[in-house]
Amino acid sequence: MAYDPDNVFAKILRGELPCNKVYENEHALAFHDIHPQAPVHVLVIPKGAYVSMEDFTANAPDELVLGFFRTVGHVARELGLSDPGFRILANHGADAHQEVPHLHVHIFGGRPLGAMLV
Ligand code: 5GP
Repeated sequence: MAYDPDNVFAKILRGELPCNKVYENEHALAFHDIHPQAPVHVLVIPKGAYVSMEDFTANAPDELVLGFFRTVGHVARELGLSDPGFRILANHGADAHQEVPHLHVHIFGGRPLGAMLV
């Protein structure tokens, strides 16, 4: 899938749409989901034009891949979710109901999340 530079997360990254920011560095931006599915529902997106995890891990520079994943861990820690726990999820494509075609990792926490696998 080609990257659409007008997707909502690209607009958030460019400052054209607002977001409720949690954390930002040179690699990534973290913000609260507009329709939270849990008491804590944060999205972390890389600073780059990548549609999905598949695209990102194949095509992003190593420094950005490392920086992005370190940022996901940092944000989860800073949210205070480590104990009793949290869930990380990234949807890819139509079968997974990926709505926004810019890679985003969901961080869910703040309540027991159940034994969801699919
Ligand atoms: P997906 O289904 O693509 O994995 O998840 C997309 C997520 O982005 C959804 O949870 C949805 O609520 C969230 N979302 C969609 N548009 C916006 C927006 O404009 N701002 C924020 N903060 N979240 C959004």
